[in-house]
Amino acid sequence: MPSLNEFAGRKLAELETRGQRRELVDTGRGMAGRATRDGRDVISFCCNDYLNLSQHPQVKAAAAEALQTYGAGTGASRLVTGNNPLFAELEARLARIKGAEAALVFGSGYLANTGIIPSLLGEGDIIFADELSHACIISGARMSRAQVVIFRHNDMADLRSLLAAHRAEGANALVVTDGVFSMDGDLAPLPEMTALAEAHDAWLMTDDAHGLGVIGGGRGSSFAFGPQKMNVPLQMGTLSKAVGGYGGYLCADQPVIDLLKSRARTLVYSTGLPPASVAAALAALDVIEAEPERVVRPVANAAQFCREVGLPTPESPIVPVIIGEETRALDASRLLLDEGYLVTAIRPPTVPPGTARLRLTFMAEHDPADITRLASLIRDRIIKRPAA
Ligand SMILES: *Cc1c(COP(=O)(O)O)cnc(C)c1O
Repeated sequence: MPSLNEFAGRKLAELETRGQRRELVDTGRGMAGRATRDGRDVISFCCNDYLNLSQHPQVKAAAAEALQTYGAGTGASRLVTGNNPLFAELEARLARIKGAEAALVFGSGYLANTGIIPSLLGEGDIIFADELSHACIISGARMSRAQVVIFRHNDMADLRSLLAAHRAEGANALVVTDGVFSMDGDLAPLPEMTALAEAHDAWLMTDDAHGLGVIGGGRGSSFAFGPQKMNVPLQMGTLSKAVGGYGGYLCADQPVIDLLKSRARTLVYSTGLPPASVAAALAALDVIEAEPERVVRPVANAAQFCREVGLPTPESPIVPVIIGEETRALDASRLLLDEGYLVTAIRPPTVPPGTARLRLTFMAEHDPADITRLASLIRDRIIKRPAA
């Protein structure tokens, strides 16, 4: 057996050869997408803080006040002494926005998915998941010990035939997908999906981490397909993207929420979110509801960029520019950083092999002139590479 350090060193060397080694880089963040990297001021096009609410004065003030009133932490699981009174207010607000009966706030989106799925499905059940589902959906599905069937990305014919072939193998069944795909920016086809789930007696769950605040008038992907709300009985999401803070949630009917309070291990055995985070989320949701003109900006900015580069019209504020090889994606990211734009390269295993990419995210407060300059850099120097 190698020593622990030899083992780690060997694994790291393998990752290095594949261009898959990752490092943490200190990054400061300021207003309107400004960031600092290595002492340099840059403009970030890779933050999920779509509405710039992490830096919003009202949101920061609410967090500061809750910090002073209630202290830095909740001191225990929500089931013990961690259930600060602000949680009930936040849950009522989330339920109203998402058109659900009730809501439950978790410590993070990752904790939500890994708590929800194993609480509802177990051995003898079956889960159908989109192949590009977020890593924590897959973690939750594996932890459940249910059979997991992966369908091709947004391919409803594939889902239909897999449901027909395998639904009967499970007692209870779940169809689960990102509402807005985190690395591709496209939406799950919920009208078809809700119909398929109903027809095959399966529960439907969406992970709307990138929907709340930016899609469907700010209410998320269930509201993005016309005036009629899609029938999604399990709407999960996070408070760490457009809401600008931290925490995860599920919106569902009351009995489901009540069951999770007793069953979700990531709720029962993990400390409640700090009061400042709960208060920040409430203040951010105030802004989201009061300022529809802010809510439409991220997708509008993404649309400007796509128009200028010649890419298809985006469905969300997330725009992938697929590069292919890991090292080329890293080079492209470095080129943009030299020009003052922070755009991280996303590599396997976060995305499928051969699809390393620049993942751009657009924020409400991005300056149209910066978007234009970034678009021409990407169009002229990355997509159309000058001959070597
Ligand atoms: C970010 C993200 C999560 C995890 O949420 P956190 O609150 O950051 O833990 C879950 N699902 C999707 C689709 C995400 O993009």
